[in-house]
Amino acid sequence: MSEKYIMALDAGTTSCRAILFKKDGTIHKISQKEFNQYYPKSAWVEHDAMEIWGTMMGVMREVIEMSFISPQDISCLGITNQRETTVVWNKHTGKPVYNAIVWQCRRTADYCEELEKMGYSEMIKSKTGLKIDAYFSATKIKWILDNVKGAREEAEKGNLLFGTIDTWIIWNLTRGKSHVTDYTNASRTMLFNLNSLQWDDELIELFDIPKSMLPEVLPSSGILGHTDKKMLAGAEIAISGCAGDQQASMFGQACFDLGDVKNTYGTGCFVMMNTGDRPIYSNYGLLTTIAWGIGDRIEYALEGSIFIAGSLIQWLRDELKMIDTSEDSEYYSMKVKDNNGVYIVPAFTGLGAPYWDMYARGTIVGLTRSSKKEHIIRASLEAIAYQSKDVIMAMNDDSKININKLKVDGGASNNGFLMQFQSNILNIDVYKSKLSESTALGAAFLAGLGIGMYKDKDEIKSICSYDKVYRADDDREKYENYYENWKKAVGRSFNWAK
Ligand code: ADP
Repeated sequence: MSEKYIMALDAGTTSCRAILFKKDGTIHKISQKEFNQYYPKSAWVEHDAMEIWGTMMGVMREVIEMSFISPQDISCLGITNQRETTVVWNKHTGKPVYNAIVWQCRRTADYCEELEKMGYSEMIKSKTGLKIDAYFSATKIKWILDNVKGAREEAEKGNLLFGTIDTWIIWNLTRGKSHVTDYTNASRTMLFNLNSLQWDDELIELFDIPKSMLPEVLPSSGILGHTDKKMLAGAEIAISGCAGDQQASMFGQACFDLGDVKNTYGTGCFVMMNTGDRPIYSNYGLLTTIAWGIGDRIEYALEGSIFIAGSLIQWLRDELKMIDTSEDSEYYSMKVKDNNGVYIVPAFTGLGAPYWDMYARGTIVGLTRSSKKEHIIRASLEAIAYQSKDVIMAMNDDSKININKLKVDGGASNNGFLMQFQSNILNIDVYKSKLSESTALGAAFLAGLGIGMYKDKDEIKSICSYDKVYRADDDREKYENYYENWKKAVGRSFNWAK
């Protein structure tokens, strides 16, 4: 019998990818294609949902052709997606009534501020685990219903459906048979109650959204539908895994145990901690979210994001012209023995958790006549590690769970200097996975688990081996001093733009 593959569909913010994985988690083939970003007004961001679907179909067919396999060789399909992005479409025609409103889009920020002023913050946090923000889907759906001509009437007649990108892709793959989402994606809508595990009636009423628009919420692993025969040469492939991108990467990194933490080092950083079967509410403005639902067991996570991480290195490259490529940052950092007292706080757009100062701005402190560009580059990489430590310390304090290792992925996790420094500054081991593409891999693992290809999570864990483990340096006093200096530097950036 020929080898069977798992197909992961990764519907990201800028591109769609279809990846064929082997059961051992290695990649057989990838096909990827970008799609257009639309910016109709300042701080508004949209996608054409039809284009996303077309692009996804294209990469699915391409990866099958490139591999010389038939769709029958694919045993199951998993989906991971940019979270929160909102599509509303007509269930009879399959046409969206408006462009997809992307998670980054700020058009409902004023309305969110009003909700805060009206005193809804606590209620929304306790029900959904989220901080009121324009990121989440609820206010985006309301915007479409309030602003697209005829949309509200059609929605009230039961003709319109809402979905995040996972829901939209599954609806199309099943030719309208499955209008579903999974717990992780539902938990980012600001409409889903983390405790009752249902759409929340009070929130639905507050945002004035007809319940008939909302998808059925299913486990992240298990059958969510089957591809329609007309899609992939007659194959009816089980769609058996689904999770939002950060949750999928956490699954792909096998963060299955209480207190397991992963950090994705991309443009920004996304830190997530498994808090087991209870939601933990943060005192530092971290989000409480669903890690995944498997069978009837739901696991929760704390999530913190860092706005500027890899983009600080891009800034060194593109604006300061200190390096030619992001990778060079490692070489220059290693050319000096330390940062020579230089600290850089990349608060370009304010500071997030645990500081939450939107008026903070970027700062470089500690410059002397002996400061060199190497010190600034090194301080930039160190800043990524310090910001990650800030978030991880907040998680530690919120959960009272002792964090003893960190699993890492994302572009900047290839920087050995950064990973070693991260370990030193946290005083814990940092694990870099041998398997790449942890987000898509997580979707593939969820799908494989959903059809019984993997017996259980332990089997998946045994597949995840590590390329490299970074262990912390013993000189604790030195690193504690560094971190104190970092805190002082952060203090200098507060309130600058007020
Ligand atoms: P995203 O998914 O957010 O686009 P990626 O995971 O592809 O991000 O990572 C790209 C980011 O990581 C860029 O901001 C880039 O500057 C940074 N980066 C990539 N490689 C390195 C490296 N070796 N050292 C430092 N930063 C890096």
